[in-house]
Order: sequence, then structure tokens, then C-alpha cells
Amino acid sequence: MSSVIEELSELHWQQDLLGSIEVGITVVDKNFTVAVWNQFMENHSSVRPSQISGKNLFKFFPEIDETWFRRKCEPVFNMGSPAFIIWEQRPYVFKFGTSRPITSTSDNMYQNVTIFPLASTTGEIDRICVLVYDVTDQAIAKKSIEGLNDRLKEVSRVDGLTGLYNRRYWQERFDREYKMAMRTEPDICAVMLDIDHFKKVNDTYGHHAGDLVIQRLAKLIKLATRETDICGRYGGEEFCIILPSTTEKTAKIMAERLRKLVEMDAVQYEDIKIKVTISIGVAQFSKEYRESVLWLEDADKALYLAKESGRNKVMLAHEQNDKI
Ligand code: GH3
Ligand code: MG
Ligand code: MG
Repeated sequence: MSSVIEELSELHWQQDLLGSIEVGITVVDKNFTVAVWNQFMENHSSVRPSQISGKNLFKFFPEIDETWFRRKCEPVFNMGSPAFIIWEQRPYVFKFGTSRPITSTSDNMYQNVTIFPLASTTGEIDRICVLVYDVTDQAIAKKSIEGLNDRLKEVSRVDGLTGLYNRRYWQERFDREYKMAMRTEPDICAVMLDIDHFKKVNDTYGHHAGDLVIQRLAKLIKLATRETDICGRYGGEEFCIILPSTTEKTAKIMAERLRKLVEMDAVQYEDIKIKVTISIGVAQFSKEYRESVLWLEDADKALYLAKESGRNKVMLAHEQNDKI
């Protein structure tokens, strides 16, 4: 009799242990019939042990991809080796809500899952134990750090005044486009542009007004270009654009549109309207450019020629080359 009581009391503390532990524990057999379902699993699924015991696990949790989960469990049954599923691979196995719905930024509990073999007295593995760990806090922390890193990366690429790419990052993109162009020879153009007589703006209205003009020009550049064009601030009041899938002829149309847009525009500063014009140089890619810098230099030379020939103009590199 005393041994029965001992056994019962042992069972009792084992039940307590299973109940109080903050890990999901479920035991299933080869048919995925549930034998053990602890308090954690009940709390998060609202499925009571009495409901699920002796029933098929997949019937209760249709969100589990049965084929995938069976394949995951195969080596555990066949070779006795444990299996692991981490949240980075699959956010969860069981679709549970988070335990902190108010403070958590995620709707579902992120889970790490361990599956290990349970051998019977004959040594045969006829059951497996599935442990479910709630790693929501850890996952959210990691994700927010990743988000911050992405944000930092973005900030390090962008020019503070205009929101366009800064020179370093634009140059990186330009070199990448150049390398690709050397292989596939697409129609692609490089554009350099500069505000005409900008020193006068600074001298007359002050540096702050000058900054507003630069910001406004950046907006107009964004307006006149496509989302796939790569726009940057090369320095001071000089801007650079890569126009993919564009011939020199089409680039000229786009550049003329931008030039006119700037010419028509005015920046309101206190009670005055500041008007500026821009000069633009365009160079279409050619395999003749043995280095990326030569391509950009041609766009810059075309810009110089636009300045020389009176400003407020668009000049193409080949027009310039013809003149030299
Ligand atoms: P050009 O028509 O030949 O281009 O004449 P320019 O007066 O515009 O000559 P340049 O392009 O050499 O002048 C650039 C001026 O831009 C000089 C500098 O004081 C001013 N500048 C450069 N960066 C900034 C900036 O961030 N803000 C302001 N307000 N001015 C800047
Ligand atoms: Mg200038
Ligand atoms: Mg300049």
C-alpha cells in the first residue's frame, strides 16, 4: 500500500513539475496521437489535455504543415537523434498568441522547438517529446536591432540636407552599374548637373537661403526622374543621376524637362522669390570607357561645356567630343 502511495505522490510532483514549467511539453506517438499535453500547451492553445489526449495532433493544429513536421520527426523516430526548429527558420510551429499582448509588437509567439526520442522499455522509439520554448522577447529584440541596423545603413547612405544619396554611396552604385554595363552593354546614362551662379545666391541672400535652394532642387530632381533612377548629391550644389535603360536621346528629353522645371520654379525665402537655373551634362555608357571614372568625367566635361556655352543648358558628351 505504501508503495502505491509513494508512486502516486511521485506522479503528483511530476504532474506539478509538468504544470509549472514555462515550456510547452507534448508527447506523441508515431501516428502523432497525443499522450502528454502540459499546462503551458493548454494555457496558450486553450485546448485541454482531456480534449486532445488520444487524438491526432494535426487535427487540432491545422497551421502545422503536416508533411514538413513528419519529415522533421522521421530521424527522431528512426535514428533517435533529436531535431531542432529555430524561430529564424520558422517563427512558430504552434500558432499561439503572445503572453504579453499589450507590450509585445508581435501577434504570435516566436518559438524554438526541440524534438527528442522517448524509448520504451524494449528500447524501441515509439514516442517523441516536443518541447516548445517561448522566445518572443529574444526574437523581437533581435528584430529591432536588425531594424535599427537597416535604418543606420540607410542613414549612412543619405545626404542630410537633401535626402538624396550621398556622394560615397552614389559612387558605389555608379561603379556597380558600370561593372554590370561592361558585361551587358545596356543603354544607361550618367548625368551631372550644377546650379548656375550659385555663389551669387549665397552672397545675396545668405547661406540658409542657399540651402533651401539646394533642397528644392533635390525635390525637383526626384520629381523629374523615375523611381529606378539613382539620384545623388555629388557635393555642394552639384548633383549626379544614373538613368538605367535610357539612351542619350531620352536622357536629353528628361534633362530638358528638369532644366525647364527649375527655370520655371522659384524658392520662397522670407518675402522674396529666389530663381535659379541649372546646367546639365549627359554621357551615355560605352564600352570605350575603360574605367568608370572616364564615363563620369565625360558627363562632367559635357556639364562644363553647358556652362561655357552660356549656362541653363543641357549638353551631351558626344556633342562635346565632336567639338574637341
Ligand atoms: P557656376 O555657374 O559656374 O556653377 O557658378 P557657381 O557660382 O555656382 O560656382 P560653383 O559651382 O563653383 O559654386 C559653388 C558654391 O556653392 C560655392 C559654395 O559656397 C556653395 N556651396 C557649396 N555647398 C553648399 C551648401 O551646402 N549650402 C550652401 N548654401 N552653399 C553651398
Ligand atoms: Mg554652380
Ligand atoms: Mg558647383
